[in-house]
Amino acid sequence: MYDLQKAKALRMADRSEREKVQLELLRQHLRRAMGIPYYLKNLTVAGVEIDRLQSLEDLAGLPLTSRQDIDSNPEQFGLRDEEACRDIALTSGTTGDAVIVPYTENDLKRLAFNEAMAYMGAGVQKEDRVLLTVTLDRCFIAGLAYYSGAVKLGAAAIRSGPGQPERQWQYINDLKPRVIVGVPTFLYELGCWGQNNNIDVGACSIQTIVTIGEPARQPDHRPTPMGAQLSELWQANLSSSYGATEFETAFCECTEGVGGHVHPELMLVEIIDEKGNVLKEGQPGEVVVTPLGVEGFPLIRFRTGDVARLHTSPCRCGWTTDRLGGIEGRLAQRLKYRGTTLYPEAIFNVIQCNSNVVCGYVEVRKAADGSDDITVVAAADSKVSGEALADSLQARLRVRPVVVVRTVAEVKKVMSDDGGRKPKKFFDLR
Ligand SMILES: [Zn+2]
Repeated sequence: MYDLQKAKALRMADRSEREKVQLELLRQHLRRAMGIPYYLKNLTVAGVEIDRLQSLEDLAGLPLTSRQDIDSNPEQFGLRDEEACRDIALTSGTTGDAVIVPYTENDLKRLAFNEAMAYMGAGVQKEDRVLLTVTLDRCFIAGLAYYSGAVKLGAAAIRSGPGQPERQWQYINDLKPRVIVGVPTFLYELGCWGQNNNIDVGACSIQTIVTIGEPARQPDHRPTPMGAQLSELWQANLSSSYGATEFETAFCECTEGVGGHVHPELMLVEIIDEKGNVLKEGQPGEVVVTPLGVEGFPLIRFRTGDVARLHTSPCRCGWTTDRLGGIEGRLAQRLKYRGTTLYPEAIFNVIQCNSNVVCGYVEVRKAADGSDDITVVAAADSKVSGEALADSLQARLRVRPVVVVRTVAEVKKVMSDDGGRKPKKFFDLR
């Protein structure tokens, strides 16, 4: 398992061949999950007979697991075998308390394999050096994942960590990494710092950007305004990735940039509607994942709370695996505005097309008629009017919420006030 050459073959294989392998992996995964109190009880109550599963479609008959299920029964999840535990990760806790996610030795190998395949898809070679501007500490998993993936692939990792642009540029100039991994906002600031310090950013050694933590691609596969600015500034190819600590798996785009490839040994993905029905290819809905092979924190049909679409057509890169499109928003952040349903991400993607707008957040309150009363707060130091931004929202999204413009410092203070890992972009006052 987790052999890179075999993995390549599985990604080129016929769907039926691949599904046979996945069905066996699913059976193994379910047997392992029965060792966790929560699933022993729930799968037994649901009458699941693992050996009777005939195809991957049978997965849809198994119960779903929500973040609320985990939050209200934390002692029922996760392996309680201290001897098997090698690393303890904590979720970033955008909702509820942080969850403890124990990793076994095999989980760490799985993690390295996941990111090695991600790099391979993004065109990273053994000869490459990879500058990691993500943190490896504070019980954060993405940094460790991208580090161990680079090592597994045979490339060289440069563990720079976040912040300190001057030092980052020193590493770029001295060590000539061809690949950089980081959060879009930070990579953009790093590029701007270079420009302001007379560095020819587009001519530096970086040719591939792998982004984490924030979407850099829209549902139609066009880059987000931030993604487009990154490619332009660095003159580099962009691969956007999506993952979460709970499900221990990431989806990363290949060089074609048409959705994050689903790694068939590691994951089964479904898209469901509000009633829990599985949707067809290309329809937006909640992403539900079953991360195969996880030992420390096995999950079955975990509802991510994120909205996206699944694409099943073969990719131009030669891999025939499914691809998950750009995250369209969080289900809990869905806005209802005069008959239109939308997510804050769509608003940010429009207002950030204005080059004066640096970032922004959305506040939502309940209006008297039961719909949502939306206020958009945009951060800009140079001249831009809220009216002009509201016009662009009207033109692109057919909604016209109130748009307020404040200074970048004011907005950033509000967005970082709760001290979380990610800036807060959504304030739900409903
Ligand atoms: Zn591809």
